Amino acid sequence: MAYQPGRHFLQIPGPTNVPDRVLHAIEYPTIDHRSAKFASLALACFEGLKAVFKTREEVVIFPSSGTGAWEAALVNTLNPGDKVLAFDSGHFAGLWVRMAKNLGLKVELIPGDWRRGANAVELEARLLEDRGHEIRAVMVVHNETSTGVTSDIPAVRKAIDSTGHPALLLVDTISSLASIDYRHDEWGVDVTVAGSQKGLMLPPGLSFNAVSAKAIAASQHSTLPKSYWRWDEMREINRKGFFPYTPSTNILYGLREALKMLLDEEGLENVFRRHDRHAEATRRAVRAWGLEVFALNPAEFSSSLTAVLMPEGFNEAEFREVVLRNFNMSLGSGLSKVAGKVFRIGHLGDFNDLMLAGTLSGVEMGLELAGVPHRKGGVLEALSWLTAQAKEAGTQVVAATR
Ligand code: PLP
Repeated sequence: MAYQPGRHFLQIPGPTNVPDRVLHAIEYPTIDHRSAKFASLALACFEGLKAVFKTREEVVIFPSSGTGAWEAALVNTLNPGDKVLAFDSGHFAGLWVRMAKNLGLKVELIPGDWRRGANAVELEARLLEDRGHEIRAVMVVHNETSTGVTSDIPAVRKAIDSTGHPALLLVDTISSLASIDYRHDEWGVDVTVAGSQKGLMLPPGLSFNAVSAKAIAASQHSTLPKSYWRWDEMREINRKGFFPYTPSTNILYGLREALKMLLDEEGLENVFRRHDRHAEATRRAVRAWGLEVFALNPAEFSSSLTAVLMPEGFNEAEFREVVLRNFNMSLGSGLSKVAGKVFRIGHLGDFNDLMLAGTLSGVEMGLELAGVPHRKGGVLEALSWLTAQAKEAGTQVVAATR
């Protein structure tokens, strides 16, 4: 392909755009990971992560993609043959289920149509039936990246509590952490799984487990085979700012910088509001185009991405190819069950109003070039709404020079 000038628009729902400041931090020379300087870097990362996960407990960092943290959540808490309950809520929920089966766990699946989140009512009914407490854990994806549907974790917690069932609650926040409000301690989650390459604005390569005291207690008896993913060895040495093996020093430099930006400069609550605004503006554009948002329940609309249904007879892969070739923008593909049918607009991470304007413009022009039936005016609708919001909230900046 010929050189495409200007910056590539990476509007897949992760990996996301890495801010220049974070890239520069990653460029610092690698240091001795057994030195005092490294310990102060690691300890700053651990401290900041607690604030992001909203937990007082220690957060474990693995040098791996998010899939590693999925595995760590299962192998540290469960035993061979244990039963786990999961939801058929999307592609990533399905991959986690496949992993659980590969690890020798028995999986019971609560069915779903992928257009709605985890059904807490069905969960409660299933847990009530399980009088012998065979189910050892409930696995939920907070934000399903393949569908743009967010599940109500407090409702899931409430369903478990109302039955008095002792199952652990394991939650995947890979595409929600640091983009959508999430509270590990307050919501009573036992293991939260996350990754570096989405809301945390880092390249892929780090994954995380936030853990509860109950999860730690389970890990002391868990007999699934594990070595690299062991929490006990990790947690012990982490307290001094070190790792049991060579850590991703340079991504940790990036993490320290990203945490500063999210927590000290923008503020986590503002980060969530920014994501909510961009998601709402995107949905307004989609409706103005006459297209359908894949998620059905407004209470479950994702603030980190929007999945859009293609009109019957039109393939998302061809549309995305037109957008990539003409406008140098990558959009998210349809995955497994919705391949060909759904494309995804990522609006998470280091992202602002004008980046959204460019993203939506690329989609609107691409729809025209690909011959996809739609109405014009989605971009205008989104921008008018964003402007009205800024006026209403009084956040617009007026010229200070007059
Ligand atoms: N879970 C969710 C919700 C995801 O979006 C992803 C990746 O996009 C994963 C799990 C897998 O993470 P990774 O690809 O970093 O291993």
